[in-house]
Amino acid sequence: MEQRDTPVILTIDDEENIRDSFRLFLEDYDFRVLEACNGREGLEIFEREHPDLVLCDLRMPELDGLEVLATLKEQAPDTPIIVVSGTGVIGDAIEAIRRGAWNYLLKPIQDMSVLIHAISQALERSRLIKENRAYQEHLEDEVTKRTEALQKAVGDLNQSHLQLQEKEEKYRSIFVNLQDVYFEMQLDGQITEVSPSVSHFSLYRREDILGNNIDQLFPSAKNRDRLTSRLKNTGSVTDYEIYLQDKDGTLVPCSLNARYQDNLEPPKICGTLRDITERKQAEARIEYLAYFDALTELPNRRLLLDRLEQNLSRARRYRHYGAMLFLDLDRFKNINDSLGHPVGDALLKEVARRMTLGLRNEDTVSRLGGDEFVMLLSELGDDPVTAAAKAQKKAEQIRESLAEKYQIMGHELHITPSIGVAMFPASEDNQEAGNDILRHADTAMYRAKDDGRDSIRFFLPSMQSAADDRLAIEKELRYALERDEISLYYQPQVDASGGIIGAETLVRWNHAERGFISPAVFIPVAEATGLILPIGEWILRHACRQLKTWADQGHDMPHLAVNVSPRQFRQPDFIQQICDILEETGADPNQLGLELTEGMVIDNIADTIEKMQGLKQLGIELSIDDFGTGYSSLAYLKKMPLDILKIDQSFVRDIESDANDAAIVETIIAMANHLDLKVIAEGVETEFELDFLERKGCKSFQGYLFSRPLPEQQFSTMLAAGKVAS
Ligand code: C2E
Ligand code: CA
Ligand code: CA
Repeated sequence: MEQRDTPVILTIDDEENIRDSFRLFLEDYDFRVLEACNGREGLEIFEREHPDLVLCDLRMPELDGLEVLATLKEQAPDTPIIVVSGTGVIGDAIEAIRRGAWNYLLKPIQDMSVLIHAISQALERSRLIKENRAYQEHLEDEVTKRTEALQKAVGDLNQSHLQLQEKEEKYRSIFVNLQDVYFEMQLDGQITEVSPSVSHFSLYRREDILGNNIDQLFPSAKNRDRLTSRLKNTGSVTDYEIYLQDKDGTLVPCSLNARYQDNLEPPKICGTLRDITERKQAEARIEYLAYFDALTELPNRRLLLDRLEQNLSRARRYRHYGAMLFLDLDRFKNINDSLGHPVGDALLKEVARRMTLGLRNEDTVSRLGGDEFVMLLSELGDDPVTAAAKAQKKAEQIRESLAEKYQIMGHELHITPSIGVAMFPASEDNQEAGNDILRHADTAMYRAKDDGRDSIRFFLPSMQSAADDRLAIEKELRYALERDEISLYYQPQVDASGGIIGAETLVRWNHAERGFISPAVFIPVAEATGLILPIGEWILRHACRQLKTWADQGHDMPHLAVNVSPRQFRQPDFIQQICDILEETGADPNQLGLELTEGMVIDNIADTIEKMQGLKQLGIELSIDDFGTGYSSLAYLKKMPLDILKIDQSFVRDIESDANDAAIVETIIAMANHLDLKVIAEGVETEFELDFLERKGCKSFQGYLFSRPLPEQQFSTMLAAGKVAS
């Protein structure tokens, strides 16, 4: 058997982004990843590279997943294949398992830990099977060899009795070590031979079974009769599933192979039994996975929608009300990014546990994926006002319970949910489906988030238009660059006397009909859809071009900072992209800075540091934006080649009113000094804030007190003057 240090995984999927995300993720776990974009290519690569495991999509051009399965099952039955398919084809997925897939996962995979778990489980099982097979083959070999030898020995009457005994001894040892059960019985069911391994299966000793009737082990008369009639008709059975009842009365699923031997006198039935408990469990697991979330074991979206539909029609029929609570954890991503997925997963499990505490039988808690949970409350009475009050009370209870502190793997964590509530049925004549209710609750949840997180909002029809807006933004953002609607503003960064020491680039979207759309609104949409890549590249190119223009005009522009999005930064060729842009525009890298956020630098730290060093070597300054809102620890910061910390404006805002925030600001400044980093305070709006920051040792500022972000012309004029207007 080939031994490799790095397991090789072949992903077969026609969607490039899925292959990419698997590759990026799996390489982090030290797998070597091969990719194929359809079944035909997958089989070619398989034959060449003999991967240790295959991740296979079902619906693909050229050759689909089921055909791949059929071929691989024949060629390499011991290589685990995990099917990864969309929910739309769940019937196919179950069919896939029947045809030999080892496991299947629903696409999109929300939780990569589920994938890694499935992979390690499959690899371990495959290793065991290979070992076992090698052992069995060895046994079979031995059996053949010994049987031949025995026959020869029996034929040769001159063979000494002692030698014969020795051979028999060896044969015996094989019989005794067999893992499956070997048995022989007469046609009337009397057991005449059985291997000792029967005790693992049945808890009976061999002696307790020999000579007894087979119905001692197989109590179901119907099943027995079917088996014997099959044997009589066809002479043999293979992989016949039957339940064996052990000494304690437990039923053990078995696969039976047997042959009717009428050439013997008296004729008998010989065969083997194999325990297939594990296979049965795997099948049950598939059923389960289709309806439950693997991480929290809560019902998944599919089961939730099932129950919601039932509830909805009951509520209409009996004229009572129910409610749907949609929860999203505030800033969960921060925890996941900075403390790692195991901590995030453990937190989600604990949230699931708290949500199910004291749950009524008729209610359902479900995890939709990520940090989204849903609670379905049914039968809240026939009065809409009372029903809504009950829903509100429950939502508040959950909010309180989730807000209590968490002890997770040595971290003390706090998290709050934003909760959207939708009552149903929404109106008497309305024929909305379960999906609509879910969307309403989701929309209300977004409103709760917009209104400052940690809050509860009920769905109102007017909210729907806001949600529709979001979709429209997504659609129109695709054309924003082509239509020339994106531009850059520049916000000066100054010293205490208002002298310009640099600027931050802030993107603006001037939509033809809607007017200015805030980057706080559209950057997250761009990030979620991937549009951030072309937009981000445009911003970088444009900023660099501007630097060159200022240089050509003789302006002294010390530093221009550009915001970089996580997805943009994670591109493998990000540094190359920057080099190309610098070369193309002729901008001086020493004038360029990049603003990164805590979350994105703490994720995958080794890779990040390497990337940051690459950027620094080009002469680019690096800053951490919104510092203080994440969970970065000093230990991490020390390792990173940073130049600047930007104190988040939420702290600056509260300096005056919140002693805690004032202390945080003080600590950040002290810490930056200690690490030899520059600090910029952002969002400085008042003299009071400026005065406080200055006294604590901060020397650089940015905020409305000095200047709002300005269009290019106005900023250039200010730059020429060298300081902000006072
Ligand atoms: P940010 O990077 O933290 O940018 C600072 C935000 O605070 C800007 O909002 C700025 O206009 C605003 N601001 C500056 N001074 C003050 C002040 O004194 N008071 C108050 N209340 N606000 C102030 P803006 O331009 O709306 O940008 C919002 C966010 O959108 C940015 O937060 C950044 O995360 C993102 N963003 C903006 N431009 C870009 C970009 O080019 N690329 C990427 N990836 N993200 C961007
Ligand atoms: Ca920024
Ligand atoms: Ca910021």
